[in-house]
Amino acid sequence: MQNLIEAFTNILDKQYVLDSEEDKAPFLTDWRKRFSGKALAVLLPKTTQEVAQIVQVCASNQLAIVPQGGHTGFCGGATPDNSGKQIIINFKRMNQIRAIDVENQTITLEAGCILQTIQEQAAAQGFLFPLSLGAEGSCMIGGNLATNAGGTNVLRYGNTRDLCLGLEVVTATGEIWNGLKGLRKDNTGYDLRDLFIGSEGTLGIITSAVMKLYPLPISQWTTLVACDSVASSIALLNLFQKRATSLLTGFEMMTQESLSLNEKHFPQMANPLQSNPPYTILIELSDHESEEHVRQLLETVLEEAFEAGIISDAVIASNLSQANGFWQMREHITLAQAAEGANLKHDITIPLSSLESFIAQTDRLMRESYPGVRIINFGHLGDGNLHYNIAPPLGVDPQTFNSSYEKPIHELVYSQVERCQGSISAEHGIGQLKLQELRAHKGSVAHNLMKALKMALDPQNILNPHKVLSI
Ligand SMILES: Cc1cc2nc3c(=O)[nH]c(=O)nc-3n(C[C@H](O)[C@H](O)[C@H](O)COP(=O)(O)OP(=O)(O)OC[C@H]3O[C@@H](n4cnc5c(N)ncnc54)[C@H](O)[C@@H]3O)c2cc1C
Repeated sequence: MQNLIEAFTNILDKQYVLDSEEDKAPFLTDWRKRFSGKALAVLLPKTTQEVAQIVQVCASNQLAIVPQGGHTGFCGGATPDNSGKQIIINFKRMNQIRAIDVENQTITLEAGCILQTIQEQAAAQGFLFPLSLGAEGSCMIGGNLATNAGGTNVLRYGNTRDLCLGLEVVTATGEIWNGLKGLRKDNTGYDLRDLFIGSEGTLGIITSAVMKLYPLPISQWTTLVACDSVASSIALLNLFQKRATSLLTGFEMMTQESLSLNEKHFPQMANPLQSNPPYTILIELSDHESEEHVRQLLETVLEEAFEAGIISDAVIASNLSQANGFWQMREHITLAQAAEGANLKHDITIPLSSLESFIAQTDRLMRESYPGVRIINFGHLGDGNLHYNIAPPLGVDPQTFNSSYEKPIHELVYSQVERCQGSISAEHGIGQLKLQELRAHKGSVAHNLMKALKMALDPQNILNPHKVLSI
């Protein structure tokens, strides 16, 4: 072990090779404190060359590597196992914006750039970097790419994969692949970039990326709308898609139960819509033209929805602070659930045409099998992405409930996801959390192809082993 630490200190200054228990501790537990592990050392490289040299040492010694960004991922992908034999490469020192290309509308970033900093730097140059999610003050672009993160702007701009044009990657042998081209068209054989995106550090280590930028919208209007059913919520989405087309930048759904939980733990987050309706929809329109244009459009579509009986109430944010308050209400559901105690989370996607049937049938089966459970259902409805979470009946200890019912409840939800041809992981990935579920629901042909790719790119299995695939 001492030899390995010495080898790393030949690459990095000693202060960036953390091997004392005290120094390693902040890197061993994830943001939600759900996963913990041990590590031989935590390494903090500054350059791609240093990452490549570290990987070469690891490859020669068959030492497993856990790449780590902000450690905010929900599936334990960036947490080492308990052997104490893995090393963590944390990217916080690789945080340079290498270039902003105004004509090409691209930004070249190192893997450790914090998402919020990227948004701010882009805005300072008059651009929008549209990736946006609750952890943006801590998560890093390398982690966003490795999990193909989604967030609140997918409806208009796509997920992280859709925003990426090129990557620089250190391979499992310690070679550097320079794919940092800012091209919107490049049909030169297999798409290596897409292979690494979403692979959660199991196929290669992302050190830099070229990402798309967009013109900054000059006006944004946000509204909260009351719907009484899933069907009317989807009808409303379809109406906005038809009338507002690309101006529709946000469409989030929050159920009565999820907002009641919010109000219980954060009274300042009470729903401004009267009597907290069955479904509250948060809608955002953004435009590059005048404020007036988008405001008029919003009012016209809302009027049409009222007349068609799709909605029963609406509040339009009168200023930026009120609009931010609406978004905070949405973001606080996750925090309210954490304050309530552990719950069983399902980050799923369902085709919109099957969503009503999924919710009706899964709710019914859940309530029949587990009387009194609380279904906290909210999500990015515009993407068909639900966070379908289950909290124990009131008064029942969450730990006891989860240890007894975790498996059958996951299976109930995922079998309904399969019936509706959905996905068991919409945007959070697989990590170490959903290994069995992936095996059960991906299909054997797809699962075997994934294994074959892993063995081809990382035959020694040193890149984040036992994540995504249980090998
Ligand atoms: C409050 C909150 C809200 C969230 N909201 C959303 C949301 O709306 N949508 C969404 O999609 N996600 C959401 N997330 C989870 C989301 O996946 C992460 O926040 C983010 O994308 C992960 O970035 P990170 O830098 O923290 O990565 P980490 O957690 O550090 O790592 C995640 C995975 O990527 C790998 N990895 C990290 N860096 C690299 C690299 N440079 N090269 C190769 N592999 C790497 C790790 O090994 C691990 O497998 C939320 C999380 C929180 C805490």
